[in-house]
Parts: sequence; C-alpha cells; structure tokens
Amino acid sequence: NFSIQLESKSNDELGELVESIQLLANELNHLKTERNEFLASISHELRTPLTYIKGYSEVAKRDHLGLEERLSYLNVITEETTKMTTLVTELMQLAQLDNNTFTIQKEFFSVCESLKKISQRLLPTFKQAGIKLLTVCPENIHIHADPVRFEQIVVNLLENARNYSPEGTSTTIEVAKKDAEIKISIHDQGKGIPSNDVPFIFERFYRVDKSRSRELGGTGLGLSIVKELVDAHHWEIEVSSKTNKGTTFTIIARGEL
Ligand code: ADP
Repeated sequence: NFSIQLESKSNDELGELVESIQLLANELNHLKTERNEFLASISHELRTPLTYIKGYSEVAKRDHLGLEERLSYLNVITEETTKMTTLVTELMQLAQLDNNTFTIQKEFFSVCESLKKISQRLLPTFKQAGIKLLTVCPENIHIHADPVRFEQIVVNLLENARNYSPEGTSTTIEVAKKDAEIKISIHDQGKGIPSNDVPFIFERFYRVDKSRSRELGGTGLGLSIVKELVDAHHWEIEVSSKTNKGTTFTIIARGEL
C-alpha cells in the first residue's frame, strides 16, 4: 500500500505528479498491449502445427490407405510435433530470461575450444546442406562468459547462417581480440536480410519470410533469445547484411576478458 500526501504540495508539484502518473499509466497500457500481442502470436504459432496434426491424423486413420501413404502422413505428424517442441522449449527459455531470478554463471574459458566443439556438433548438418563451415580463431583467447549461454548464442547464429544460405556457399566464424574487446563474427554468403527488415529481426516472432522459416523448423524466436543473452552479458551484437550477398552478425564482448 502506498499513500500520497497531496496537501503540502504546490500546484507545480501536483502537476508533475499527475504527469508522472500519466506516464506510468501509458507504460502499463503499452505493456498490456505487448503482452496481448505476444499471447496472440503464441496461440497462432501453436495452432498451425495443431491444425496439421489434427488433419493428418484424421486422414491417416482411413482404411484404404497403402502403407507408404500412411507413413507419409505420420511423418508430417512427427515433423509438426518436433516444431511444437522447439517452440515450447524456446518459449520456456524466453520466460526464464524474463524472470528476475535469471542469472548467468560466468567463467573463463577458451573461445576457440568452445567454437571447435560447437562446429563439430553442427558440421554434419552443414555438410548435408552443402555449406562449408570454417573457423578462423587465434589460439589462447579466453573469454569471461556463461559457457552454456555462449554456446546457445553461437549455435542460434550458425543455424540461421545454414538455414538461410544456398548450397555451395561458406559460413565463416572469425574471432579477433583487440585490447579489452573480443569480436566474434559469423559471416554467411546467403540470401541476406533486406535493410527494411534489419531493425526488427531481434523482435519476437519476426521473420522476413514466414513460410521459408517455418519450413526449416524456425520459430522466429531464435534471434530474440540471442539478443537477451547478449544483453545479459552486457555485450553488443551488430548485424550487416546485403541481399543475395550475405549476412554478418558480430558479437562484441567487452570488460573483464
Ligand atoms: P527463425 O526461427 O525464423 O530463424 P530468428 O529469430 O532466428 O527466427 O530470425 C528471424 C528472421 O531473421 C528469420 O526468419 C530470417 O528471415 C532472418 N534471418 C536471421 N538470420 C539470417 C541470416 N543469417 N540470413 C538471412 N536471414 C536471416
């Protein structure tokens, strides 16, 4: 409970108070609208796979189907279930990041070793997509970061590079240290992001090409998670992109390195 003593206030002070309350009310309304939009997006995103699952499970139950046809319907159901699982996992990550109790657990570790581990894990999927994955990392660079979160940032950026690049291109991870700054850039030769879209790509559910993203199992949440993790480290992230030429995301880590 709080109380406001109005009697002793001058008109000027009262005016200021009314203004502050008005600003607070505007902010609350804005948050309410944002929350409603977020809930509407989540409902929509969950509805799409559910519609497929319902439709295909009905069709798969029909008597006269051959085994192959039935299996193809069941495959759709599996794929859509996987998409829902990814969506729910990412929503849980965002909820955790929004929670005030969220903490990052920093330790010193070798950037190159961590990147090597991540590349090895993702290499088969890059091979399958016909994209080269290269790493340029001078040894002995240590970073003060949460290793699990660091991995999450890099994996999300690499998965995007792979998803939005055509066969025969390369994705390069490059690390450079200058004074108290480490720059980690992930460069692809993919389709790029139109300059009009760039300011919005870190927003939740924002996608340049919705159907392409969905086809690839994307949720539109990856970059918003990346941004929150980068913020939690008090780092920066920059993006530069040219349509049909490629995109570079650069993480700039400063401070205690
Ligand atoms: P998604 O799950 O759709 O990949 P993200 O939040 O990771 O969601 O990215 C948002 C959108 O930004 C993507 O849908 C895509 O349109 C665009 N995008 C992200 N990374 C790249 C990239 N490396 N090249 C081209 N477009 C990208």
